[in-house]
Amino acid sequence: MPLKSEIYKEILKSYDKDRSIAEERLKNNKKAIYTAVPRIKEIDDEITKSSINMARLVIDSPENKDLILKEIKERISLLNQEKRALLKENKISEDFLKIKYKCENCSDTGYIGTEKCSCFMQKIADAITKNSNLKNILNSENFDYFDFSLYSDKKYENEDLSPLENIQKIFNICINYVKDFNTCYTNLLFYGGTGLGKTFLCNCIAKDLLDKGVSVLYLTSSQLFKIFDDEQFNKEKEKNRLNEIFEVDLLIIDDLGTEFSTAFSSSALFNVINTRLIEKKPVIISTNLKMNDFVGQYSDRLVSRIMGNYTTLRFFGNDIRILKTMNTL
Ligand SMILES: [Zn+2]
Repeated sequence: MPLKSEIYKEILKSYDKDRSIAEERLKNNKKAIYTAVPRIKEIDDEITKSSINMARLVIDSPENKDLILKEIKERISLLNQEKRALLKENKISEDFLKIKYKCENCSDTGYIGTEKCSCFMQKIADAITKNSNLKNILNSENFDYFDFSLYSDKKYENEDLSPLENIQKIFNICINYVKDFNTCYTNLLFYGGTGLGKTFLCNCIAKDLLDKGVSVLYLTSSQLFKIFDDEQFNKEKEKNRLNEIFEVDLLIIDDLGTEFSTAFSSSALFNVINTRLIEKKPVIISTNLKMNDFVGQYSDRLVSRIMGNYTTLRFFGNDIRILKTMNTL
């Protein structure tokens, strides 16, 4: 996925292109109409001339401004009437002489005033989804497809909540996370055994945020550590990916704890987590490690950053992947 600013540049370029196409089309339409009905060209020229004259006359004799405006407006209105009649007579639609933008709301500029048009948000989402790691899975892994029936409503070991009650609580936190993403800075740590829906919920969050035009980078920890290692050996392409890790709106690191790490990559991980904390750029981490193992595997300074600044959500229950398989038997 390119940097967000590069995506923006590309999108603005595409708007320039759309507008040029619209203008070119109008120019060609006019040319065709002027050839077919030369009087229409005379009318258009006279309308243009009248507008220029109007400005000059008003400047020359401002005391007669109202009268001048009235006369010229009447003249232009008559000319337009004649033009409409000619178009009708020649069976040409009036739309043929209007500029036609792809988006009528923003005239293919991407902005309505200073606000981004919805077509701009759509373009951002499309660009990000096309370029992210997520494009294939997101159609089937989103909040609409979350299957609560896979979680038991019976008490589980020493827990106060049943796995079902627990996942319902986590699910709601994730829904609110998306809803408040732009106003509330929060990091999440999903932890607990395998096959309890951690990756699925990461994807749900990613999907909904991408739809809102937020840039999301999803990496398994092995992919992330490979980028660190490649960067160490100065591979240019990986440098760009490393920038993304720092700049993307939301970074998701899935399956932390399964990576092969070196002293270099461990300190690179700390750097990413720490820098994003300082810049208030959110991260979601998921790990199958138990809390004790998590604390044991990573440096004290990394653990303290995460424990102090992440909302920790514990997943427990029976592996739903096994349940799913049993259900289809
Ligand atoms: Zn628009």
